[in-house]
Amino acid sequence: MTHIPSTEPLLLEIALPVPLRRCFDYFAPVGANPAGLQPGLLVRVPFGHQELIGIIVRVKTESVQNLDKLRPALEIIGSRPTLDSELLDLCLWAADYYQCPPGEALQTALPVLLRQGEPAQLRGEPVFQLTTEGKGLPVGALKRSPKQAALLAALQTRGQLNRNELSLLEIPRTIAKNLIDKGLVTLVNVIPDASTPSSQLLREQPLVLSDEQQTAFAQIDYSSFQTYLLDGATGSGKTEIYLQAIEQTLRRGKQALVLVPEIGLTPQTLERFQRRFNLPIVALHSGLNDRERLDAWLLARDGIARIIIGTRSALFTPLKEPGILIIDEEHDGSFKQQDGFRYSARDLAAVRAHRLGIPLILGSATPSLETLHNALQGRYQYLRLKARAGNAKPPEIELLDIRGEILHEGFAQASIDAIGDTLGKGNQALVFLNRRGYAPTLECHDCGWLANCNHCDARMTVHQTPRHLHCHHCDHQRGLPKRCPSCNSSKIQPIGQGTERSEVVLQQLFPAHKVIRVDRDSTRNKDGMQKLLVDVHSGDPCILVGTQMLAKGHHFADVTLVVIIDADAGLFSTDFRGAERMGQLLLQVAGRAGREEKSGRVILQSHHTDHPLVQTLVQQGYHALADLILQERQITQLPPYRHLALIRAESKQAIAAVDFLKLARHLAEQLQAPHPLLNYLGPLPAMMEKRGDRFRYQLQINSAQRKPLQQLLSQLALQLELSPLAKRIRWSIDVDPQEMG
Ligand code: ADP
Ligand code: ZN
Ligand code: ZN
Repeated sequence: MTHIPSTEPLLLEIALPVPLRRCFDYFAPVGANPAGLQPGLLVRVPFGHQELIGIIVRVKTESVQNLDKLRPALEIIGSRPTLDSELLDLCLWAADYYQCPPGEALQTALPVLLRQGEPAQLRGEPVFQLTTEGKGLPVGALKRSPKQAALLAALQTRGQLNRNELSLLEIPRTIAKNLIDKGLVTLVNVIPDASTPSSQLLREQPLVLSDEQQTAFAQIDYSSFQTYLLDGATGSGKTEIYLQAIEQTLRRGKQALVLVPEIGLTPQTLERFQRRFNLPIVALHSGLNDRERLDAWLLARDGIARIIIGTRSALFTPLKEPGILIIDEEHDGSFKQQDGFRYSARDLAAVRAHRLGIPLILGSATPSLETLHNALQGRYQYLRLKARAGNAKPPEIELLDIRGEILHEGFAQASIDAIGDTLGKGNQALVFLNRRGYAPTLECHDCGWLANCNHCDARMTVHQTPRHLHCHHCDHQRGLPKRCPSCNSSKIQPIGQGTERSEVVLQQLFPAHKVIRVDRDSTRNKDGMQKLLVDVHSGDPCILVGTQMLAKGHHFADVTLVVIIDADAGLFSTDFRGAERMGQLLLQVAGRAGREEKSGRVILQSHHTDHPLVQTLVQQGYHALADLILQERQITQLPPYRHLALIRAESKQAIAAVDFLKLARHLAEQLQAPHPLLNYLGPLPAMMEKRGDRFRYQLQINSAQRKPLQQLLSQLALQLELSPLAKRIRWSIDVDPQEMG
């Protein structure tokens, strides 16, 4: 270690957005005030021949590197740390845990504009207000121009109006401009204000909690860390408990952060929060532009936004007065990032809440087995709601054995009859099918040719609108052949069901009713989903057909029948989570039926009605299924009983990826010479061995305890980074992987 006792150099340890698992040392910028240098500040530095913006992680006087080789940083950006120490430490902890380069983890936490050097300051908002001269006008002045008079009157009563309020009053901006020209009105920039008296907290009265809700609610302690699993069926009143827990938090002068699944943040959800609370709420979702995202981030940081609702990455929102974290539908896969910084927002939320000393509520009707296990072991406090709130009755799932049945484009006659019956009674039906497109593939009746993707080990999906073949794995597309490319026969036909095909069939069967298809294709445009659902919310009898996009977040008051076309895929998945996911998805879909006064009916078509998992789910429900799967996981030594990490490698030449993983295993075994707690599996081909012209392999490492696995991974990652083999392939480490493919 270099140590210079006399004139100690001022050094900055900086996390940079580069794919290396380390930070970099620089001298402080020339002329920088040492007292102003703190962790969390953004800093511009030279890196090779380019300039990068990084974050100061530590200010120090010693370096393990040779001081002659260090360069000075160029410039400190802004005068106060962009990331407070709480978030900075959380990100660094997470980078370490998930084996991610610290600079990349910190990138995830920062809005794009901040990464580009934009000041971390609220812009303020331009508002119109009266000048002294304007204030001098009598009430009822400017009568000759009614719009000008209206604006004047509004400003006289309200003091200020922003652009949005102006357009709500239907006053054109030119009118405001006229009054500015006359010297009666000015435009000033106003920074939003954090102070709102708590007497005005609520816009509507909270519901009176049921006994069961009250019992759960009463257990929440707002002054210390605890993770709660709020386990209650769809419609059992979990959201009402969130709302009341948030109210308690707000009354204590604290902020609430709520995470929802990627497609769960519907205008309906947001509206429900806005209807209840009279305080600033910000929503962080994919529809925001970079400026809006930064504004929301700043509003939260400065304590102006009191409730923050967002998807996965909103976990990294800075909070001035953090009071509670809530994760709705905690089992949802979207809380785990699948590339780059592969973090689980749910698991990190527990780390964040623990460090902040605040409660975390995980809510779900179908908790993940990890969470359920933690609750059953007593690590999480287990809150259960068994009844449905209000008058709604739980739907019963009817198992429909379709072995040997003549199916009409995938539908059993009994299902078709049930749909007709539902429409006849003036209600709505929902058909669930987790495959978009027209059909999963195209087949030649004469020679058996199948439409395979040339780039993947996968079939191409047939699409009708527009007509083409599409690989859902690599996005490759080509035209629909008229004749078999192999034998030139004209008897080529789409095989199996997709949502487009079901839509066509249903429209033929029920020509008098609207059929609304909801999947990634039909909702691609902005607000696509909302536009499609207008008809559903109007309450007219109709049929909804769609993928899992229908299963989440939406509240369909008039849907009384759910038909699940095919749920068998999950039973035979090679991913050990297949059965768990199937159970969760089926119950989420089933939960769409009969949410209000009308009772619901759910029909599950299956070729495997006597499969133990199907039987358990239908006869005894999700929790019995979860018990069964947990027992299996314990026997087979899988999560939550073991800790898993995957090292993935892919390359154009299979051998390069395999060699890399062989090296990884060899290095690991050397690092942890026969370690009783660690097991290795692989290198093995991924479930889809070839995708997008790359061959994919993986090495699984599992451990009875977290710590030895963590220690191994951090040493291993550094060694792999240096290996020449690593430069020829793509590789990554996934800690607590959710997708095994
Ligand atoms: P979940 O989040 O578990 O799906 P919600 O909180 O959305 O359940 O409640 C389902 C429905 O029941 C909503 O319409 C809600 O307004 C209503 N509800 C919830 N709690 C109560 C209650 N205590 N009394 C009456 N209605 C309630
Ligand atoms: Zn053929
Ligand atoms: Zn493909």
